[in-house]
Amino acid sequence: MAPVSRKESGERLVVPFAEGSASMRLELGNKGANLAEMVQVLGPELVPDGFCLTTTASLVYMEEGGDRLPDEIAERLAEALSVVEAGSGLTFGDPDRPLLVSVRSGAPVSMPGMMDSVLNVGMNEAVVEALSETAAGGRFARDSFRRLIQMYGEVVRGLPPEPFEDALTEARSLAGVGTDAELEEEALEEVIRRFLGIYELGAGEQFPSDPMLQLARSVEAVFRSWGNERAVTYRRLNGIPDDLGTGVVVQRMVFGNMGGKSGSGVAFSRDPTTGDPEPVGDYLADAQGEDVVAGIRNTGDLDDLAAGMPAIHAELIESIKRLEVHFRDIQDIEFTIEDGQLFILQTRDAKRHARAAVRFACDARAEGLLSREEALSTIEPAALTALLHPSLDSSVGFEELSRGVPASPGAARGAIVLSAGEAVRRESAGEDVILVRTFTSAEDVAGFNAARGILTAQGGKSSHAAIVARGMGRPCVCGAGGLSIDPGSGSVQIGGLLLREGDLIAIDGTTGQVTADEVRLVPAEPDPHLEEVLRWADGIRSLGVRANADSADDAARARELGAEGIGLCRTEHMFFGADRDRLVRQTFIAGELARRERMEGDSDRYGREFRQGLVELGEIQRADFREIFMAMEGLPVTIRLLDPPLHEFIPVQAFENDLALAKERGDRQEVAHAERNRRIARDLEEVNPMLGTRGIRLALLLPGLYEMQTGAIIEAALEVEREGHTPRVEIMVPLVAWESELDLMAEAVDSTAADLIEAAGSSLEVSVGTMVELPRTCEVADLVAARADFFSFGTNDLTQTALGLSRDDAERAFLPDYLTRGLVTRNPFETIDTPGVGALIETAVRKGREVNGDLGLGICGEHGGDPDSIAFFHRTGFDYVSCSPFRIPVARVAAAQAAIGGDPANGQPGDS
Ligand code: PEP
Ligand code: MG
Repeated sequence: MAPVSRKESGERLVVPFAEGSASMRLELGNKGANLAEMVQVLGPELVPDGFCLTTTASLVYMEEGGDRLPDEIAERLAEALSVVEAGSGLTFGDPDRPLLVSVRSGAPVSMPGMMDSVLNVGMNEAVVEALSETAAGGRFARDSFRRLIQMYGEVVRGLPPEPFEDALTEARSLAGVGTDAELEEEALEEVIRRFLGIYELGAGEQFPSDPMLQLARSVEAVFRSWGNERAVTYRRLNGIPDDLGTGVVVQRMVFGNMGGKSGSGVAFSRDPTTGDPEPVGDYLADAQGEDVVAGIRNTGDLDDLAAGMPAIHAELIESIKRLEVHFRDIQDIEFTIEDGQLFILQTRDAKRHARAAVRFACDARAEGLLSREEALSTIEPAALTALLHPSLDSSVGFEELSRGVPASPGAARGAIVLSAGEAVRRESAGEDVILVRTFTSAEDVAGFNAARGILTAQGGKSSHAAIVARGMGRPCVCGAGGLSIDPGSGSVQIGGLLLREGDLIAIDGTTGQVTADEVRLVPAEPDPHLEEVLRWADGIRSLGVRANADSADDAARARELGAEGIGLCRTEHMFFGADRDRLVRQTFIAGELARRERMEGDSDRYGREFRQGLVELGEIQRADFREIFMAMEGLPVTIRLLDPPLHEFIPVQAFENDLALAKERGDRQEVAHAERNRRIARDLEEVNPMLGTRGIRLALLLPGLYEMQTGAIIEAALEVEREGHTPRVEIMVPLVAWESELDLMAEAVDSTAADLIEAAGSSLEVSVGTMVELPRTCEVADLVAARADFFSFGTNDLTQTALGLSRDDAERAFLPDYLTRGLVTRNPFETIDTPGVGALIETAVRKGREVNGDLGLGICGEHGGDPDSIAFFHRTGFDYVSCSPFRIPVARVAAAQAAIGGDPANGQPGDS
């Protein structure tokens, strides 16, 4: 059956502000829903009138081919416009009392700056002439028209910005002025003439003078901008589904560029960088909003507004606070002052740095604005890692090349890159990079993601670079004085220093400092607001949070960050290291020779060598485990027995080296030995080792291996116990596919442990569980659970095997393409694929608990630190998640949000 189209389903295509509300977010988009709500809160005087074309309209437009506005939408559009005309006393296209409108995008989830807008729609030469005769004046009229031609050309006809910008630059130099605002009427007249020519040449038609045509085409272009490359990239990076569609807001224009009593700005109800409760913002007199947001002109602040127009300033502050109380979150608003009258054009929940997020949560609760649970739900958990980021070491002096706006806290050091593409390229080659730009735009988003930090020459705290960096938790310095960039030659001038792409610099987004000295990064200071928020989270969540840690240092760090145990200690990490490599290699070669010996029924020569190697390895392991038990005293430690593919322990290259050395020495016996070892290593190489001789299979091929590890674990624990401490031991068997494998191995592990514990006269309790990493294991979870005290889901391998995707290659190969094309909305190695992998997990949990009501349930794959996946694990009844130490605070907050049941990314008032 064909799906019912949105139009047939009877959903509305156009909704006036007066009939909308915040609850209509999916239908109107965030901008539209917030405007409608704003009208309710502030009254119609402060909000210019308008209406929304709904997300349904955008989908209908796409369904019907995406090349012409369907008649029905065009009719609703005309009706809604006539209501705005009646209310304002202005008429669209009427030179005597012209109504001008803005056409702006507004998706149901925040996509700042990713889609297009066209302002001043409704102007033509007749309107310009008529407006020139009014109080607005000729300069204003011409300035507005030239903006329309350029924006319309770029957005509707896809013309490049450069010819327009070049014409403006020429006009400025001809007039001998530094800014567009200083261009006189005659100069603008000439700019318009040039712009119309540029338009005609590029678009192959005359600039349309029919206002209705301008409007329809602008709406179509904004609908289409949902599918532009940068919007698609942004959705992919932020996990936003492609089928939401976008709303379009059509609103009466008000003008900030009407002279001295006019201006535009962006204001936050609290500082989005620090959380300081006073409103802050950027303001430009005699300018339109675009000039402020683009960060192209250096802006003033709200104090400048207070000095020039104190009454308007007071009204603005009052309105911002009202909006904050209403939307119950930090608000980010756009305002315009038109000839002495204040208008609020937009409000949305502010993107904020994690420092501001935790401060706001604490303050909002203390002020009684939000309950503890509501306050916690305003925090974006993934951003909290920024609070654990380092800063520049100021105890050692360094030369400050520049000090810009501290736009997003944290420090970073890396190689200068001048483009997003270069950032991505170098980052994927493992380099730390700092993206250095004059100012940034939406095209740079992929570069932000790849960069450690961002540095710009222009822009303030509300510029694009600042907003995106804060949202992503990247350190950022904006508007750095004395910074100039020459992409052509790949060079950057900062202060008096000339640097090239690839040279190292460091930035501190907390202080605004920039240096090329080799300065150290010092770890983050404890944040008392974060501590408080984490305390709340711990009081609310039911899901435990453990760490993946393989050393005593990591374990101690994890404990400081709130880990309640170790959920995964990968013992193989203890097998690598210069002093251990040779012993490991010898032991595994001997193990393989012993296996061949057994098959041929020969002597036990190599078996003895293998066992001797295991004894030595056991000693090393025992010392490592001892340190970990001490660091985690009293908390559970899940130690996974050896997992990696056999060939990783006996790399062919190592034996090639041995052979070369033996030949150099001329020792024939040594040469023969090395040749044999190389042959064995080659025999054991696998084409797809991730599916080969690894996990429990290793132990079954090399009897004694897991017994050695179990012995080392138990002896370490007994030692620690004898010293008066409380080790809590959990032993975990990896990559079990058949229940028979676990039957054999659990028996061996149990009896090894029991013998040692009994001999020591101890009552140490040890639980033995298994990882669940293969689809078959999920299906036979009841049989497996009969032998396991706990299941720990290795969701990395489970994703790999359930989806048939190589975890090592997919993210390089085709996954990015799949994400860009919208075939998948989230990277399944980051966020659990709920319908597929998630369903397998649910099956395993259900079947496992059916036979073992006490079965422990944990997650130790990367998904354990991902907030969306954590919500799923909470719902599925897990006991704990385990993640890397730096993600522990993220997991604690995400687990609390899961318990509250609120997803802060969805349905919060004012989130746009
Ligand atoms: C897993 O597969 O999810 C897991 C934790 O094990 P590893 O990443 O070590 O294979
Ligand atoms: Mg695994």
